[in-house]
Amino acid sequence: MKVFNGTAVFSGVAFGKVSIYKRNEQLIKREHIKDAAEEIKRFEVAKQSAIEQLKDLYEKALIEVGEAHAQIFEVHQMMLDDLDYIESIIGMIEDQKVNAEFAVASTADTFANLFEAMDDAYMKERAADIKDVSERVLNVLSGNSSDTGTADMDTIIVADDLAPSETVQLDKEKVKAFVTIHGSSQSHTAILARTMNIPALINTNIELLEEYDGKEAVVDGFTGTVYIEPDEMTVRNMREKQEKHVAAKSLLLKLKGKESITLDGQKIHLYANIGGVEDVPKAVQNDAEGIGLFRSEFLYLNADDYPTEDEQFMAYKEVAEKMRGKKVIIRTCDIGADKQIEYFNMEKEENPALGYRAIRICLDRKEMFKTQLRALYRASMFGKVSIMFPMIISVEEVRKIKEIIAEVMEELSAEKTPYRECELGIMIETPAAVMISDQLAQEVDFFSVGTNDLTQYTLAIDRQNQKLDTSYDPHHPAILRMLKLVADNAHQAGIWCGICGELGADLALTETFLQYGYDELSVSPSMLLALRDKVRKTDLSKRTNEESAL
Ligand code: PEP
Ligand code: MG
Repeated sequence: MKVFNGTAVFSGVAFGKVSIYKRNEQLIKREHIKDAAEEIKRFEVAKQSAIEQLKDLYEKALIEVGEAHAQIFEVHQMMLDDLDYIESIIGMIEDQKVNAEFAVASTADTFANLFEAMDDAYMKERAADIKDVSERVLNVLSGNSSDTGTADMDTIIVADDLAPSETVQLDKEKVKAFVTIHGSSQSHTAILARTMNIPALINTNIELLEEYDGKEAVVDGFTGTVYIEPDEMTVRNMREKQEKHVAAKSLLLKLKGKESITLDGQKIHLYANIGGVEDVPKAVQNDAEGIGLFRSEFLYLNADDYPTEDEQFMAYKEVAEKMRGKKVIIRTCDIGADKQIEYFNMEKEENPALGYRAIRICLDRKEMFKTQLRALYRASMFGKVSIMFPMIISVEEVRKIKEIIAEVMEELSAEKTPYRECELGIMIETPAAVMISDQLAQEVDFFSVGTNDLTQYTLAIDRQNQKLDTSYDPHHPAILRMLKLVADNAHQAGIWCGICGELGADLALTETFLQYGYDELSVSPSMLLALRDKVRKTDLSKRTNEESAL
């Protein structure tokens, strides 16, 4: 048995087989081979296995994201069957007596360069595809298991770190825990683990060794421990712990259908944060009273190109319908910082968290923004849709947004496309927005505080920086004062306010948020019932948690 320790960012106990997730950064060496026929066979087998993987991915994508996005996996299969591509690889192995890896990598480079040199924008983009499919073949050749999508078992993903663009590719049905060497508690992997309700460890002192791949393991998300090949006693203890945890969670299920109200009668709305349509069942199962944050950028992260108006419309409509008239707050695209997308073609920045991101991109790329707004307004006919804008720093931004919305509405009316007026809100996640929240409150219908970013910008601590994770303190009095100020300014202007950052689920602060008068807390679905339990046990008339931190 091997034991490693990390910091748990979500509790629970999970059993599964280790799947080492390595980024495709393999160094390909040129090697001289003796038996060309044997090497060609190696290539053919790897190619076929890559095609099988792509078939599986196609089927999976078809269900999860629809035909339009699934097609790319068909295109990739065709690329691997392309005669020029195959002839180039086989030719190199035969003529130059090189290893299959080298022949695949060189051919990929040559073909990618050819595509990149073309004038046609569509063909240019195929350069990335040829690299992608070749990487897949190289992974099979080197036995690298970075494709976790095909394994037919419960897996514990062990990775260096995971970018949002990588987590979207994981087969979430099979992933039972995350263990990363790096990462921070506010990273999107941590947020994803909370949404998926699975244990996750960061800062773990484990190495990405091939020998761990496929081994039985258990993750203890209470102590931050991962055991590889656990001995009998550990398995027994862990099973017991798991059963207790499951029993405690099922007790909470009794709170389904009950009101979120304190003992002295103060009500609060408890909504769920989701990343896509696939998270709605979790929100419903945990009795979410609405969706307080739909991170729409995951639609963009999940795709190889800008999602079209219809694709977005379908996703927003489905969420609105599934929530059956409950409020669904959709945040417009919050790309940038840690959420990078290749097809956005953004320049590399020194300081992306302070850079070109979120509403800044949307106001700059107006057509893209209008496409999303049109989709949102069309979806408004199918439920109760509210729209929320991220990273606001000024009143001018909000006014510009409203002008663009007016244009969109005019266009929809002219086309006789039905839509409803939507409640408009902003995220309060910059200190600037906090300080002018009195003015901003005159412009919008609601505020939702994004404490993840607000903490990083207020404390000047990168939320992704592992070294500073212990100093990243959302309980800092500066943050609490800001939260109070925002609530006061919202209520003075007669609008409602909520919290959709991770702090909203912090049970140690529930009473404080209720005292400040927050109207809504939006949290990972898995946290909803525990939060309702906390609210229902709170008696504000006793005010035990007197605003001491301030
Ligand atoms: C936040 O910043 O608190 C937030 C909810 O948005 P995200 O975590 O997606 O940046
Ligand atoms: Mg944010």
